[in-house]
Amino acid sequence: MQQRLCDFIVNEVGVGIFSLDREYRILLWNRFMAQHSGISAEQAIGANLFELFPELPQKWLSKKIESVFVLKNFAFTSWEQRPYLFKFPHNRPITGGMDFMQQNTTFMPVRNESGEVDAVTVNLFDVTDNAIAQNLLQEAMGKLEEYSNRDGLTGIYNRRYLDTRFTQELERMSRYQAAFFTVILFDLDRFKQVNDNYGHVAGDEVLRVVASRVLTTLRDTDIFGRYGGEEFMLLLPQTDLAGAEIAAERIRVILCDQPVQFGETKIIISASLGLSECHSGAAEPQKVIEEADMALYFSKQNGRNRVTVYSPEINS
Ligand code: GH3
Ligand code: MG
Ligand code: MG
Repeated sequence: MQQRLCDFIVNEVGVGIFSLDREYRILLWNRFMAQHSGISAEQAIGANLFELFPELPQKWLSKKIESVFVLKNFAFTSWEQRPYLFKFPHNRPITGGMDFMQQNTTFMPVRNESGEVDAVTVNLFDVTDNAIAQNLLQEAMGKLEEYSNRDGLTGIYNRRYLDTRFTQELERMSRYQAAFFTVILFDLDRFKQVNDNYGHVAGDEVLRVVASRVLTTLRDTDIFGRYGGEEFMLLLPQTDLAGAEIAAERIRVILCDQPVQFGETKIIISASLGLSECHSGAAEPQKVIEEADMALYFSKQNGRNRVTVYSPEINS
C-alpha cells in the first residue's frame, strides 16, 4: 500500500523528478518529466541522460551532479542564474518573453544502507510564471523610474533628476581630482508675452520645441532638463568653460534662428543663458548653480538673447 502511494505521488506531483546513478543512467523518470520531454519512463529508464538529451549543458551539469555524489550535500540551481536545464516548451503566451520553461532544480544525494551515495535525485520546478512576473515587474519598475525622472510636458529630465545628477557630479569631483563640469542655465525671453499673445497652449508648444531643438545639439554625456517653468539646465561633465560657451552659443542660435511654428502663427523666441564651471578644489562647488544663475541674470540685464560666462566681476 505504502509503495503504491509513493509511486502515485511521485508520478502525479506537478514537479519533475528523476534519479541518476554514477554513470548518469536514469533510474527513475516521473510523469512530469515524460510529459514535458516527450520521452516515456520506459524509454528513459536505463538510458544515459546525456545521450538522451544531447542539448543538456553536460560539462556544467555533470560537475554539479558529481559534487553531490562526492560531498553528499544538496545542490540547487535557480532560473535566475541558468534559466533552464531541459528545453521544455511551456504553454504560456509568447508575450511573456520566455523561450522555454524556466526551471529551478534541487539535486539530492540518495544514500544506500551503508551510507554511500549511490544515486542523485533531481527535482525540477516549473517557475515560468514567477519568471514572467518578475520580468514584468522589473520592466514596470524600470519604466516607472524613467517616468519619475522625466518632465511630463517636454519629455526631457525634470528638476528632481537634475538635482540628483548635480549631487552625483559633486561627489564625482570629490573622488577624482581630474573631474569637472559646467552648468548652463537658460531662461526664455519675454515668455509671459508668448502666453499673453498666443495663449498657454502655444506657450506649451514653444517649451516642447525648445527642448527638442536643444536635444539635437547635445553629446551623449550631456544632461539636459527642465529646471523650472521656462528655465532649463544643462550639466556638461568634463567640459570646461570654453567648450561650454560654444555649446551655449549654439543653443542660443538654434533657438532664435527660426520662429516656432504654431498652427498658422510664427512665434519668435530667444533665450538668455548663463554658465559657470565647477572643478575639484573650488571653494564652494555647490554654488556653481547660483553662479550660472547670476550670469543668466546678467544676460537678461544686458539685452537678453545672449550668453554670459560667470565671473566674480558680474556680481558688482
Ligand atoms: P524674462 O525675459 O525676464 O525671462 O521674461 P519672462 O516673461 O519670460 O519671465 P517670467 O519669469 O516673469 O515669466 C515666465 C512665464 O513662464 C510665466 C509663466 O506663465 C510661464 N510659464 C511657466 N511655466 C509654463 C508652462 O509650463 N507652460 C506655459 N505655457 N507657460 C509657462
Ligand atoms: Mg523668462
Ligand atoms: Mg523665468
